[in-house]
Parts: sequence; structure tokens; C-alpha cells
Amino acid sequence: MSMPPGTISAALSNPDWTVAKNGAVFLLVLLWLATAYWTFKDARRRIEDPWLIGLAALIGLFPPFLGPIIYLFFRPPEYLQDVRERELEIKAMEERLAQLDQRCPVCRARVEPSYLVCPVCTTRLKQSCASCGQPLEALWQVCPYCAAAVPPVLPVLGDAPSTSSRSGRRTSATD
Ligand SMILES: [Zn+2]
Ligand SMILES: [Zn+2]
Repeated sequence: MSMPPGTISAALSNPDWTVAKNGAVFLLVLLWLATAYWTFKDARRRIEDPWLIGLAALIGLFPPFLGPIIYLFFRPPEYLQDVRERELEIKAMEERLAQLDQRCPVCRARVEPSYLVCPVCTTRLKQSCASCGQPLEALWQVCPYCAAAVPPVLPVLGDAPSTSSRSGRRTSATD
């Protein structure tokens, strides 16, 4: 059934229709602002540059509804937090690898964590425990293997006062 145009405009000027129309416009504006806000929020989690975030927020507003879709095509694929976490993980892995790949500070020869002396240049790397002979790290105050207290002697290279002159190592000839 067909209505003459006058009837439609008359129906639209009906107060009930006006309320419905205003409600629809209100919902549309709300949806528009919500999509723009979502674009801004998403951009903030993915983009570091504040100017680019501002640009993304503008695109989220104009053109309405189409802007956020355009943004979806161009947004960075990862959250900044994920990127940072991955970088931290890589750094931790590199540190673990560096611990596995220990080198003599003097001649850069590869040494095991258990070595007391560099086998290539005879530099003293670590002190050994006086009671059990295990290698000790420089900062340890007690031997973790036999619980003997470590005397507070700093294991400076070639400058340890105790247990010297036995191995006949070089002193200060390496600098
Ligand atoms: Zn060495
Ligand atoms: Zn010990």
C-alpha cells in the first residue's frame, strides 16, 4: 500500500515520532562517541607517540563509524605492554646465555663457572673454599657447599694476600 508524501511528513511531525527520532539520534551519537573513545583507548595501548595517538583519536571521530574501521587496518599489531614484556624476556634470556658463556676478564678465553684460575692466562678467577675447596663467588660470605665462613678477603686479581706464592701466578703483569 502506498501513502502520499504528505501523510509521511504528517506522521513524522507527530510528537510520538519526534520522541522516537530524538531517541534514535541520541543513540547514534552515543554509539559514535563510544566507537571514537574505543579507538582512542586502543591507540593508547598500542602507540607510544602522543601525536599519533591524537591522530588515531581524530580518525576515530571523523568520519563517524568509518574512522574506527580505517584505524583497525592501520593500528600496530601488538600492545605496548606485550612488546615490553617480550623485550624483558629477551634481555633475561641474554643474561642467562651470558652466564653460561663466561669468559676470562683478562684474555677473554672461555671459562667454566667452576674454574678457579683461567687456564689460558693463569689469571685468578675465584677463591676456593678453605675447608672444602669449592669455587666461591666474590660476594659470598659463607660457602654454600660446606657452610664454612668465607674470610673477608676481596679476591682482587693477583692481589690476594693469603694462599699466594704457591701457584706462582703472575701479578700485575697483565695490565
Ligand atoms: Zn685468561
Ligand atoms: Zn666449603
